[in-house]
Amino acid sequence: MPSNKSVSDAPIFQFTNCRILRSHQLQREDLWVREGKILNPEKLFFDEKGSADIQLNCKDSIIAPGFIDVQINGGFGVDFSLATDDVQSGISLVSQKILSHGVTSFCPTLVTSPPSVYHKVLPQISVRNGGPHGAGILGAHLEGPFISKEKKGAHPEHYLSTFDSGAFQDLLATYRYLDCVRIVTLAPEMKRSSEVIQELTRRGICVSLGHSVANLSQAEEAVRHGATFITHLFNAMLPFHHRDPGIVGLLTSDQIPARRRVFYGMISDGIHTNPAALRIAHRAHPKGLVLVTDAIAGMGLAPGRHTLGQQVVEVDGLNTYIAGTKTLSGSVATMDSCVRHFLEATGCTVETALEAASLHPAQLLGIEHRKGTLNYDNDADFLLLDNSLHVRATYIAGERVWSQDIFTI
Ligand SMILES: [Zn+2]
Repeated sequence: MPSNKSVSDAPIFQFTNCRILRSHQLQREDLWVREGKILNPEKLFFDEKGSADIQLNCKDSIIAPGFIDVQINGGFGVDFSLATDDVQSGISLVSQKILSHGVTSFCPTLVTSPPSVYHKVLPQISVRNGGPHGAGILGAHLEGPFISKEKKGAHPEHYLSTFDSGAFQDLLATYRYLDCVRIVTLAPEMKRSSEVIQELTRRGICVSLGHSVANLSQAEEAVRHGATFITHLFNAMLPFHHRDPGIVGLLTSDQIPARRRVFYGMISDGIHTNPAALRIAHRAHPKGLVLVTDAIAGMGLAPGRHTLGQQVVEVDGLNTYIAGTKTLSGSVATMDSCVRHFLEATGCTVETALEAASLHPAQLLGIEHRKGTLNYDNDADFLLLDNSLHVRATYIAGERVWSQDIFTI
């Protein structure tokens, strides 16, 4: 007969007085954690005859999976697209600071840069687990340089590139290091992009469509070749037209291969997308919506001048412009504020708003068996939130890594 702790000597934590997000519903249940994983209490009671070592009263908090930000260019004065000798310390600073905004893992994002920047920065980025040192790193998101000149947005035209001469070899020559790369944003209308999309997909790298003038059939072809994501829907693509809805049309396309889901990033900061457009996207394709911050170095700092790769950006409130222009360039929104804005703008449920920042990005990256849910045996990366979705405390692998000063449990 198994006795208490026959499976493990590690302490068992029981989070009580909470509602936990599980199976798309907030449920009044306790959350059990052991050795950094979510524990199935039934197995614990009946198979192991075990019980909690430590009970923690969550004071009627909501418990949700930690947020996952798949597009973040920097923050707190750090710009991931700058070629420094010490990229690690910048990434570490951001990964530490975003814990207070509920982000437990993320994809550092590089905007269009000269090859020398990729060659210097990419070898310094490594996938790593989160912990008290900061949010986990899931791999880099490379946005450009293989994007459209007409929809370059804040990307410097001088460094845009094509696949004309060698297709995937062009990409390889530009980036050189792909080991840490998780997502590549490219424009699918570029010549030979199909070969590139297929090869990236074959290597397990997620292809995202963006900064593009692609029509719908080009976008559908890219999806058939493996693309699964759309970079900041509505921004830097053809506007929706009823006879050719462009990339936006993927949300309701009937040409998506069976059992495939196209996800799309939304910068829900109240600036990049009108709330009505946010509602259109959400109502058309709720299960594909992935909240991203697209945050730049100015996030978390006072308004003023900051960088975004090779460009200078002026930050004024929540507006960010390439200096001297009205070209939007990333955001200064935090992930928790994007979740709250999404909830308010769409009138969706709390569950839906939380899943757009956790379950959906995890599904996009194919890591939902580890992160993005509170399912049993998943990593115990989770948040305690109040009813208006302000973060009270952040946990990674079952360990509290941040909490509000006034919130003690
Ligand atoms: Zn962009």
